[in-house]
Amino acid sequence: MFVKFDSHVHLDVRCEDDMKTMSLAGIRYVLTLAHDPMPFRTAEALLGHWEAVESTAETAVDYLIDAKVGLGVHPRAIPDEGLELALEHLESKLSDLDAVGEIGLEEATDEEVKVFREQLDLAATEDVPVVVHTPRSRDPNVISKIIEVARDSDLHPDLIVIDHLNEQYVDAVLAEGFNAGITVQPGKATVEEAVEIVTNRAEHADRILINSDASRALSNVLAVAEVAFELEKRGFDATEAVVRDNALQLF
Ligand SMILES: [Zn+2]
Repeated sequence: MFVKFDSHVHLDVRCEDDMKTMSLAGIRYVLTLAHDPMPFRTAEALLGHWEAVESTAETAVDYLIDAKVGLGVHPRAIPDEGLELALEHLESKLSDLDAVGEIGLEEATDEEVKVFREQLDLAATEDVPVVVHTPRSRDPNVISKIIEVARDSDLHPDLIVIDHLNEQYVDAVLAEGFNAGITVQPGKATVEEAVEIVTNRAEHADRILINSDASRALSNVLAVAEVAFELEKRGFDATEAVVRDNALQLF
């Protein structure tokens, strides 16, 4: 059994049992990201969440998991006040981060677009990779806006992961030169869909990443191990790329 990398998790809202389960299944790398576990009234509250994300990454070491850290302002977690303070803090931490994220758009309001754009340009100042949230609604207008803003940013598309994709938008994302994140979670892709997406696009296997988005929502912490198992059974050549190496190279 080989080691795997879950490229999008939220360990701060999972328990240590999950870390042990993942580690036993060979998921020894994760990228744990800032998200929207609660509404943030102030920048201080958001910074407290970022500290929690960083401290759970330290806990993961006890379970033999190398947890990379991504911080950023999620579109559903824009603080009521103090946004500029939060972005200044993000800028000051940039060189220590493995990623900026998750950032992106939920409804594509003007405020969301502005915050997304600012963070992409911030990441570009130090060539830090970003993980971009796309909404569960699969609203085509929001997805097109995400692609447009990401394309117009100063950050190289090689450093951008457009995440939570399923069959519907993966080709559009790959055509723009971005990396495509496939999230295997109830309401997003199933294990079978992820396997189909990857095996039908072997020529792009160096730009596809599999993840669980394990969060407070119903999740499968073994998603990456299950996809790896199915791909390995089929003898898929680039299995290790999509369940580990692409993420290791990026983060
Ligand atoms: Zn997430």
